[in-house]
Amino acid sequence: MPSVRDIELNVPATATIGRVKKKACERLGVEPELTSILHDGRVVDGNLRVNKLRLQQKPLIVDYLWARHLILWGQDGQKRLKEASVLIAGAGAIGNEVAKNLAMLGVRRLLVVDNDVVELSNTSRMIFFERRNQGSNKAEVLARNITSKFPYVEALAWTGALEHLPLKHVLNADVIVCGLDNVLSRIYLAQIARRYSIPMVDGGIVGYQGRVQVYAPPDAPCPLCAFPSADYGRIAGLRNPCDGPAEETKVPSLPTTISLVSSIQCQEAAKLVMGYRGYLKTGTWPKETGEPLKGVLMVDLRYNRYSLIEVKRNKNCIVCGDHGVAQSPVPILTIPISQLRDSTSHLYEAVAKEMKLTVQEIMLFSQKGNRTVKVEKEQSLRRLGLGMRNILTAVAHDGSDYREAAVRLS
Ligand SMILES: [Zn+2]
Repeated sequence: MPSVRDIELNVPATATIGRVKKKACERLGVEPELTSILHDGRVVDGNLRVNKLRLQQKPLIVDYLWARHLILWGQDGQKRLKEASVLIAGAGAIGNEVAKNLAMLGVRRLLVVDNDVVELSNTSRMIFFERRNQGSNKAEVLARNITSKFPYVEALAWTGALEHLPLKHVLNADVIVCGLDNVLSRIYLAQIARRYSIPMVDGGIVGYQGRVQVYAPPDAPCPLCAFPSADYGRIAGLRNPCDGPAEETKVPSLPTTISLVSSIQCQEAAKLVMGYRGYLKTGTWPKETGEPLKGVLMVDLRYNRYSLIEVKRNKNCIVCGDHGVAQSPVPILTIPISQLRDSTSHLYEAVAKEMKLTVQEIMLFSQKGNRTVKVEKEQSLRRLGLGMRNILTAVAHDGSDYREAAVRLS
């Protein structure tokens, strides 16, 4: 990686290039499977020995898949991308581009959510869909094809409704990228982002026009803040909050607008992956990545108009307002399963203690497929299928005050 740094390695002359590569990767903290060793512009076979090459004249070059990214944000930034999980809501035109961009940026874990199926007209704008995929679930096809093109990516598909996505998948996400085609699902997604403090990048397009908004909870205005509550009934039936009413079949869509909007969304998602947790602690964003977008970016490729519209937090917002569905963030409690002696009663006691309530004041719920079931006391956790990494919901309600917590078994 000459543009990043030079390193010196001490190896015997009879060492193979494979061994040199292993040592170089260890030193640089990069993955050997994503690295090649070059000499004089050509990839060197791993079995070749060092003394067969004229190293005095030309050095070995370590060519790493993300060498050009490291110049911008270093190994720390790339490591954050590698360890991040991103929830892609919607596997349509934006979802396809977003999945591609995130995979190429180096994000390893993608969860793609969509319950719709591929249609022929999709294939003109959605790079991972082909004619033969018609009738198959969009999320499944996208997850499969993204892994086949980028084998280092673990892509999972959720083929049910967004509203039925299990909480464990939501809580695993470091960032949500939204490419949904309706406002109601956006409201649902924005309240998830707010409740569980997961930053979200919203995007939408209509023809030549596109829109991007970043939501970094808890203090930023959420994607629904800009709309007066009297308008919710009207906008709920629309695809994007800024559109006029349109029949789904008549909505114009262009690959150019889609790729512009999704590129901006992914760069914003990368900023959030690399800086959001630190921002929550220190109030600052890393200078290498820059600060995420503030306000709503509107683009119009027909007239080359690019405008950033200021948005303020709205106390009457349906999502994050004083009486919004996600008015207060939900705490996430981690309970070590080893302390519970396989008993749901001990689980109730541990959760009540964390919430500073009595056992009688709380109720625990778990998710079984699409159903939410109450966890009864004096049961065996094992027999209920509750183990490590399961997520439960704790609810306390005393008539006027409602409190909720997510409980992660560790
Ligand atoms: Zn809001």
